[in-house]
Amino acid sequence: MTSSNTPSSPLNAIADQALGFADAPAQAAVVAAPEAVAAEAAAPTGPSFASLGLSADVVSALTAAGYQNPTPVQQRAIPAGIAGRDLMVSSPTGSGKTAAFMLPAIERFSQLQKAQASQPREPRPADGARTRRPQPVARPTMLVLTPTRELAMQVTTAAATYGKHLKRLRTVSILGGVAYGQQLMLLAKNPEILVATPGRLIDHLERGRIDLSQLQILVLDEADRMLDMGFIEDIETIVAATPASRQTMLFSATLDGKISSLTGRLLKDPERIEIVQRLEQRTNIAQTVHYVDDRDHKDRLLDHLLRDEGLDQAIVFTATKMDADQLAGRLADAGFESAALHGDLPQGARNRTIKALRERRVRVLVATDVAARGIDIPGITHVFNYDLPKFAEDYVHRIGRTGRAGRSGIAAVSYTHLRAHETSLHLVCRLLLAKKRRHNGVKKGIRARWKG
Ligand code: AMP
Repeated sequence: MTSSNTPSSPLNAIADQALGFADAPAQAAVVAAPEAVAAEAAAPTGPSFASLGLSADVVSALTAAGYQNPTPVQQRAIPAGIAGRDLMVSSPTGSGKTAAFMLPAIERFSQLQKAQASQPREPRPADGARTRRPQPVARPTMLVLTPTRELAMQVTTAAATYGKHLKRLRTVSILGGVAYGQQLMLLAKNPEILVATPGRLIDHLERGRIDLSQLQILVLDEADRMLDMGFIEDIETIVAATPASRQTMLFSATLDGKISSLTGRLLKDPERIEIVQRLEQRTNIAQTVHYVDDRDHKDRLLDHLLRDEGLDQAIVFTATKMDADQLAGRLADAGFESAALHGDLPQGARNRTIKALRERRVRVLVATDVAARGIDIPGITHVFNYDLPKFAEDYVHRIGRTGRAGRSGIAAVSYTHLRAHETSLHLVCRLLLAKKRRHNGVKKGIRARWKG
């Protein structure tokens, strides 16, 4: 399977347009290196992390994590973020955006701690003078809102990685589907950073367990996705509970259209950063199309492709939760170490599945779009679009699950002529895949009769 694409072909331009990559203002646009290649995109000749204003303890945590140089979005966002500017950023999946908002925040925490350490300590009150501790209320300094639990957990891990040399930096994720008691215990430690999905955060706000009046930094990660998922009112409620003096950093696949009303209201004189990535640059992910005649044919083809010798781990995307369950079961019966991941599963089960995937006990994950968003596992060598995605952006997010951090990956689409005419998306996929090699099946017996 190979990929080759004609630079700047009209088809690519139309596909870029369809995916919202085309009309970024030229003066603001930075053309990034291939998608999902943060490590490669971090040009060794560019600025260093230290020169962007990060202190030695933060840089040493990055070095330990294998980060040598900042990616384009980090080069722009880190200095502005440290300076306290509001940011509105559009950057492709896998381009290092988590560090782009987490590092300036951690640097600010680090500076604050150093300043506090140099102050003389207040004497501790005598025992009798100590007051009874009130009901614990968490008063975080930073809040990161994410659309999904998986993304929230990744942001939490990133904060722990980057801030590991700081004296005190506790990060807690507040997610739906997790027992309240457990969350209350975590909140009682009064963490500096909260990473939350909107619904559960509002529950805690209403119960008076979280107070956002001291918040200094608010991050909206994948803001466009949160709007698509209907979180607009929740976001408004949360923002209303924060002080107007906060710094706000908003990350979104696109900055125009529906997101612009939100940015207009939430951000103060923001620095606009757009890391544009053209389709033809996404060369580390080989994309192929397989025509299929019917469902049975699609299943046989998937079975065949999953036995590719080069496959380490794979994600198979289905359109519905029920299909994800059924297909994962069928693949397990066929001998694949497979599991399903979708929004109807309890949080505990979802966490166990992601852990098993990370530990390579699961090799084939069958997932729906929302559940798989944000998954960052280097062993994913293949992504299969068993069903076409509903939105064109989802296609980009799906294929971005492979080819992470400088590796290469393979993304395959299978679609039937029966379903293709029902959705205009097939056109986008054809455009995206223009000039890619088309496979009608890779061996005799599973070749489609339909020729596209
Ligand atoms: P993100 O776009 O935040 O999902 O990051 C994609 C992947 O790139 C993650 O595995 C990060 O750990 C990794 N990454 C982020 N920044 C860098 C960097 N400067 N150098 C190397 N890897 C990075």
